[in-house]
Amino acid sequence: MTAPSSSALPEAVRALAEADFGAVAERFRDAGFVVGLPAAGILSIKAAKADPARASVLVSVGVHGDETGPIEMVAYLVDALSRSADALAVDLMLCVGNIDAIRQARRFVDADLNRMFRAQRGALAGTFEAGRADRLIEATRAFFEGTGPARWHFDLHTAIRPSHYPMFAIVPELIAPVQRAELMAWLGEAGIQAIIMNPESAGTYSYFTSEHLGAAGSTVELGRVGTLGQNDLSQFAAASSALDRLLRGLPAHAAANAAHVFDTAQSIIKLSDAFTMSVGRETWNFTALKKGDVIARDGETVYTVRHDEELVVFPNPDVRVGLRAGIMVVRTA
Ligand SMILES: [Zn+2]
Repeated sequence: MTAPSSSALPEAVRALAEADFGAVAERFRDAGFVVGLPAAGILSIKAAKADPARASVLVSVGVHGDETGPIEMVAYLVDALSRSADALAVDLMLCVGNIDAIRQARRFVDADLNRMFRAQRGALAGTFEAGRADRLIEATRAFFEGTGPARWHFDLHTAIRPSHYPMFAIVPELIAPVQRAELMAWLGEAGIQAIIMNPESAGTYSYFTSEHLGAAGSTVELGRVGTLGQNDLSQFAAASSALDRLLRGLPAHAAANAAHVFDTAQSIIKLSDAFTMSVGRETWNFTALKKGDVIARDGETVYTVRHDEELVVFPNPDVRVGLRAGIMVVRTA
């Protein structure tokens, strides 16, 4: 993949991809909002008068630098919204995750940023992304501090491999039931076809905001990785429209279809360099394996399918030792 040529990009997309909030920030400031730039790549827009009934919404994009679709989608959405700035009905923080990786059209610089949102970073502690995660954590804490209970975090991604469900989301199980139901309804409205309930942190940004900051957070996978400026935006139409109406405080649209819900059956952790997987990076997400099938081997440890059927998501034998090399899920609804 080559670095995007910024001259060819529409201005709104170029600006967001470069974390340049200038024009957008100015329009919201002119409309009377309190606009902050707490760190590079982070814009916060709050009502002049704090109101606990007002929702707080964090939208993050580019946590993986090569996942450019959501950058384009959010660039157009926020640019349009800023031109009728009074319509913004929530406190909004917009976060461009891994600016340096985006500039280089790479997934990350040293290591996966979306594994850094936890206290124990082990061998990842000294990486470039560990420092970036610290900035994001600090700004995110400050954003939600003292806000009302309606807190949302949409961490928007695109998958690096094909998927039997191109649009899917990961939802932390620990989100309180009412908030979780609202989140899952929003995901249905956004065109999400499959929801994976996740019982444990893999160090992701959305798990962090859910666990520590009371947000209804989700990692949302919107189709496939594409080149900045060349993404097929029609695949994001439902997600864009659902996000836009939430930011404007408008009532929900009816979901076209309810998403299928999956529980996490097991996380496949890479324990050593001896780790091998029977499925590889080219395997589609939600590929079904049968009871007894070997998923991975790692020295004495053999990971096998325990249910009649388990589907593999995010298979990646090339992750660092100690990290998750895949999730096995089972359908519940
Ligand atoms: Zn991603």
